[in-house]
Amino acid sequence: MSSQANTTTHPHITYLGFPRMGRRRELKRALETYWRGETDAAALLATARELRQRHWQQARTAGACSVPVNDFSLYDHVLDTAVLFDAVPERYRALRQADPLAGYFAMARGGHGLHALEMTKWFDTNYHYLVPELHAGQRFQLTGDKPLAEWREAQAFGLDARPVLLGPVSFLRLAKTTDGSDPLALLDALLPAYAQLLQQWADAGVPWVQLDEPCLALDLDPASREAYAHAYAVLARGRTPRRLLATYFGALDDNLALAASLPVDGLHIDLARAPEQLDAVLAALPPGRVLSAGVIDGRNIWRSQPTRVLPLLEKAIAKLGTEHLWLAPSCSLLHVPIDAAQETTLAPELRAWLAFALQKLEELKQYAQTLAGDEAARAALSGQSALLAARAKAPGVQRSDVRARLNALSPQAAQRRSALTHRRVVQAQALALPLLPTTTIGSFPQTDALRHARAEHRAGRLNNDAYETFLAEEIAQALRHQEAIGLDVLVHGEPERNDMVEYFGEQLEGFAFTRQGWVQSYGSRCVKPPLIWGDVARTAPMTVRWSAYAQSLTEKPVKGMLTGPVTVLQWSFVRDDLPRETVCRQLALALRDEVHDLEHAGIQVIQIDEPALREGLPLRQAQQASYLAWAVQCFRIAAGGVRDTTQIHTHMCYAEFNDILEAVAALDADVISIESSRSRMELLTAFEQFRYPGDIGPGVYDIHSPRIPGHEEITELLRKALVVLDPRQLWVNPDCGLKTRHWAEVIPALEAMVNAARALRGEL
Ligand code: GLN
Ligand code: ZN
Repeated sequence: MSSQANTTTHPHITYLGFPRMGRRRELKRALETYWRGETDAAALLATARELRQRHWQQARTAGACSVPVNDFSLYDHVLDTAVLFDAVPERYRALRQADPLAGYFAMARGGHGLHALEMTKWFDTNYHYLVPELHAGQRFQLTGDKPLAEWREAQAFGLDARPVLLGPVSFLRLAKTTDGSDPLALLDALLPAYAQLLQQWADAGVPWVQLDEPCLALDLDPASREAYAHAYAVLARGRTPRRLLATYFGALDDNLALAASLPVDGLHIDLARAPEQLDAVLAALPPGRVLSAGVIDGRNIWRSQPTRVLPLLEKAIAKLGTEHLWLAPSCSLLHVPIDAAQETTLAPELRAWLAFALQKLEELKQYAQTLAGDEAARAALSGQSALLAARAKAPGVQRSDVRARLNALSPQAAQRRSALTHRRVVQAQALALPLLPTTTIGSFPQTDALRHARAEHRAGRLNNDAYETFLAEEIAQALRHQEAIGLDVLVHGEPERNDMVEYFGEQLEGFAFTRQGWVQSYGSRCVKPPLIWGDVARTAPMTVRWSAYAQSLTEKPVKGMLTGPVTVLQWSFVRDDLPRETVCRQLALALRDEVHDLEHAGIQVIQIDEPALREGLPLRQAQQASYLAWAVQCFRIAAGGVRDTTQIHTHMCYAEFNDILEAVAALDADVISIESSRSRMELLTAFEQFRYPGDIGPGVYDIHSPRIPGHEEITELLRKALVVLDPRQLWVNPDCGLKTRHWAEVIPALEAMVNAARALRGEL
């Protein structure tokens, strides 16, 4: 097969990876029926093959000249890489021998008495990868031939295909070791396996491979830089297809000279997040090298702005010529849904602003043809520019009321009336809570009956009155349970919410919801982020009714429950015509009104959840302080309007917060609950150094596990906490909301928690 770059008259169009699930989430269904034992491996693999083939065809029809292979995965591509190089921990080996697929899924999600690999966030996305578990002296060897098999599959369709592989340095940097040794020390053990693979592919006639090295967009220490130079020199030595080195999720910046010096044949850069790097990259790129220009945003769902994209491409083609310029989305399309054309229930104007994976490839085709002098394509792009100009004027996109209010916002809005030390005193009087107060994080078990009622209501088969009666009874029941258990600060249980962001988005202006806009979160799990397309405004109270109702049923304080502005932002597709921080401030103002209304309705304790605060942190240290400053300010705007006696709580989970403790303290919440029981209170070591001024509830019940913790175990965790925390500071609560658990687990666990708190109080 000839080189990909010079078979057409316009620049080559490709993409780094495609969503795996299918437009109807076919892979999810195939996986889950297989896991339940209802179908066999052959059925699962057949669905997977169909999806790969369909997606290649769709991409080609949309405009791609070449397609990636091995971007597909049954669960996760990092796990696939570990398996490919036999980086399989001992505990899975026997099972993998007996049944490779069962072994693979045991690594991914546990089972057969084995616990899964750790899972963590893929850079700053909402995708989670499985962390390879390595150790000093680890050996690697090639096992299986998944990439080549997929390449042959694509070839059989006459496609120009390119295997994708996570590069060796990023692979090691994303891995962990069980013995605390440096994963990078394993580079020389790993490289021969990579070299052997490249050689096999060269022998098979593979023209190009794509080596993903997203870590090149991170701050790198000298050891990592050396690892890059060494690894790529070694890989260039043997027989190998041409290599495209793919970087994404940010600028190369201080790693540019390094990236440009590596002996590869092409370099992919992210020009959506970092368009400003183009000049420097063009200057640094050695002659003869292909530049894959990632000009279309692979992380968001809006059509691109031709007035921004075309000048970049014109500059690149002037320097490189058609042969050495490829066009691509900025990163894998894994992070966007497949096809905006499916969203027929959205307003047609809004739909016209959207570009999901297939539309992004169509856009690339317009750009490529325009560069080749095609007038029709140029006219289509002008049409797109006009469309986007009209978007700015569409009703709801820019609201003068929202803008005026934001402009008039004084810095005072982000301040509580008094300092925390004073608030503690007045809150202690107002709430009269015991030492070591007990509470929960918000949600209670979402039973089948509840899910069923919600679905029936949505479908219009259960009328509003009946649904509301049902919810009221659920809430009353949750309160009866809490009173019987003896908790101190109660919650209404969130039965009316199926999702902590969607519930608010549905009640706010400026939001829209797709029907099939699913994005993989991990394994078969997908999320459907709302779209924030317009200025955000609240038209009516969102949570007051149920909170006030719950409070009317008990003498104890009931905590109001809100999702914070940063988390709503982080878990949505955010408009690209305003800075994120401005959108976040709009959200903060809407929530501020809600907080105010809750207070007026007699709610004395209000929790504003910010589990996603940490995940919004920019990848590069130089950008972190400014993010934290506006994120913290937004939280404070939401909470800032209340009386001193109103107690503001926040809750965080899903991440390590140790590196942003100062920002967490700067939220100025009266109480914070943090996930911690899985790490057995390791988080507390950070509080030894950092004197946290407010109250803290380090979770003492791991809600991710069906295991019911006993009284003793909880007491032990609390004692650990008391070593570093003042008893007057310590709250007693689970790690997170209880919606995924069953009442039969929750009741004894919370009883154990309350009893442990009571017993300890007696000792203090
Ligand atoms: N209040 C929410 C709940 O309990 C918090 C969820 C979360 O932190 N992820 O479900
Ligand atoms: Zn949580």
